[in-house]
Amino acid sequence: MNKQIEKHRAEVDSLDGQLLCLLNRRADLARQLGGLKRNVGLPLHDKRRELEILDRLQQYNSGPLDNPSVERIFRLIIRESRRLQAPSTSISVRTSQAPETKEDEVMIINMREGASEQEIQHVIDRVKEAGYQAHVTRGTERAIVAAVGSNGRRHELEALAAAPGVAAVVPISQPFKLVSRQMKAQRTVVDVGDVEIGGGTFVVIAGPCSVESREQLFSTAQAVKAAGARLLRGGAYKPRTSPYEFQGLGLEALRLLSEVRKDIGLPVVTEVTSTENVDLICEHADMLQVGARNMQNFALLRRLAKVDKPILLKRGPSASVREWLLAAEYLLAGGHRDVVLCERGIKTFETETRNTLDLAAIALARDLSHLPVIADPSHGTGRRSLIPPLSRAAAALGADGIMVEVHPCPERALSDGPQSLDLEGFSKLMRSLAEPLRPMSE
Ligand code: PEP
Ligand code: MN
Repeated sequence: MNKQIEKHRAEVDSLDGQLLCLLNRRADLARQLGGLKRNVGLPLHDKRRELEILDRLQQYNSGPLDNPSVERIFRLIIRESRRLQAPSTSISVRTSQAPETKEDEVMIINMREGASEQEIQHVIDRVKEAGYQAHVTRGTERAIVAAVGSNGRRHELEALAAAPGVAAVVPISQPFKLVSRQMKAQRTVVDVGDVEIGGGTFVVIAGPCSVESREQLFSTAQAVKAAGARLLRGGAYKPRTSPYEFQGLGLEALRLLSEVRKDIGLPVVTEVTSTENVDLICEHADMLQVGARNMQNFALLRRLAKVDKPILLKRGPSASVREWLLAAEYLLAGGHRDVVLCERGIKTFETETRNTLDLAAIALARDLSHLPVIADPSHGTGRRSLIPPLSRAAAALGADGIMVEVHPCPERALSDGPQSLDLEGFSKLMRSLAEPLRPMSE
């Protein structure tokens, strides 16, 4: 091989080694910092500090990496540091076996409040020795070690009840494990750009069903942002029931979404329909939507478990809540953490609405899982007039947000016009969400 290439490669290898060493030193510091913050009762997630770090790096950056690349790389580093601090730190993650293929056993080892790092590490080591994988969650007060697997020695796990720092060893009874609230009582907050979903604020995602043109996308984005939407939606690849219907603009739509994000400043959500376009969509979107028809596309879920973008997982039209949560389990079992569930209506005998928005499922999913849950009253009803009342219902029952289809001229929409609000309708919806619920009679 060319000598010069060899020399350059050797240099790259050496730099990679140094980078890895530095990254691990940074990770170690972040973990210690997590402990210090916990001790003084400070929140682990400090958004302002993160923005300061990103700003400073961009000021110092002298290239050839451009600032957006530097930001992307450091956001990832920060996110991984946060994973090490809390609340959910995946120590080891299965890649080859999905939780549904074999009935996995999960035992939770609850650590005592104030258990030391050494005691937690001891439990992790023992779990691995017993033939299980260890998933660690560090809450604000105590840590939990989940032992996952089907071929381990259960009695060795049960014996851990006597190990130092352990409060109790309990089996998880739900079929979905890592998504369950038994595993993690503290609710997960998912960051999409600078927007938090699940952090207590009702988040509104709005935009057209499909990206149709620059003008349509920009005018919608401007209007929904002005009315208070925090995220922009827009389909680039459309999973249509009929092959003769509009299938989306594909790459052209992705480019428009990137542009609109830059110009208008709303993070964007778009659907990923196949494993083939995952990388491309990751380059352009801030959040990846798994559509209802793909909820049980297990190859896609396994692939998405490895991406560093948050996932919006829609419920399949004929899926039970259990199946929906098991689909989310694929993502978490594969190592993902940032998953938002979306109830978008199911098939029932009712023919007056396109689907039946299952409000009980929203409340149930929030009971059973620590993941944020939002409602999609557009697909959930298929009727524009039902969007405002069902949005308010979703807010009332504790949903973490809604996703609504909006089009500047719904009658001309290439997809889902009848369930899209126009710009004025959307701003009216936003005003109605700010109003209190009706008073009760005495
Ligand atoms: C969409 O959000 O445009 C969509 C196709 O949704 P669903 O997968 O819920 O039908
Ligand atoms: Mn749609």
